[in-house]
Amino acid sequence: MNHACKQASYLASESLDRKLSLSERLRYQLHLFMCHNCRNFRKNLNMIHRITELMRLSDTNKAELSDAMRSRIGDRLVESGCQSDQ
Ligand SMILES: [Zn+2]
Repeated sequence: MNHACKQASYLASESLDRKLSLSERLRYQLHLFMCHNCRNFRKNLNMIHRITELMRLSDTNKAELSDAMRSRIGDRLVESGCQSDQ
């Protein structure tokens, strides 16, 4: 990996954590325009980032939904007269 690609991969991961400065963005975009490997790297990095975000969100939603869902299911069971004798 050459120096420019190392810089670009650094900026790619930095861009996930913070907003890049104008000069960083220009440098990064210019490099991406010229370098196929770094375009692939960014695509993969973004995909991994999105997947981990989705996993984090779905875990949160599951935890938040469980109580609400339980009471809603309970209500439905009462409405339909199917409540168990527990
Ligand atoms: Zn590169």
